[in-house]
Amino acid sequence: MRINVAQLLKEPVGSTRSYQINELVGKEGTNSIKGEVTLTHTNRGILVKGTMTANVTGVCSRCLNSADCSVNFDLEDEFLPSMDTSKGLSLPKEPDSFAIDSNHVLDLSEVIRQYTLLAMPTKLLCRPDCAGICPSCGHNLNQGPCQCPPQVHDQRWSKLVLLKKGERSLNGITKEKVC
Ligand SMILES: [Zn+2]
Ligand SMILES: [Zn+2]
Repeated sequence: MRINVAQLLKEPVGSTRSYQINELVGKEGTNSIKGEVTLTHTNRGILVKGTMTANVTGVCSRCLNSADCSVNFDLEDEFLPSMDTSKGLSLPKEPDSFAIDSNHVLDLSEVIRQYTLLAMPTKLLCRPDCAGICPSCGHNLNQGPCQCPPQVHDQRWSKLVLLKKGERSLNGITKEKVC
């Protein structure tokens, strides 16, 4: 997701270019990114605006199997030059902004990664009726009942089991979502 903006930076402020993004990513659970971005030459740098859909694979919050999800988000961020090319000087990096590198390349990967993480639901479900795991024996109840007595199948306890299995926090337990 690297775009060379050398030409756009030579055009007057306000000039725009649009790009289709359609990339296989294959890391950190993000499988692919699709969308369109518009780059606008501003008086400081390049403003990137776009609408994206990311296909991600996370972990089902009930059964801990993988759960696929597509997340949509609008992206808007400014990229500032890291070089003053007329003077051949490198410029200090401004906090909270992204940099256009010295070859006039703007790399969208990091900004898209951050927006994808923000747009991800805090709790994923592999399917709306995911039965979760048995809190006693850990059996995946989507594959059928286990041998435990029925009264242990209490969702309140399965949350605790999930916590023991490495869930980071109780926040958002009600925000389970299927994509
Ligand atoms: Zn599940
Ligand atoms: Zn069981």
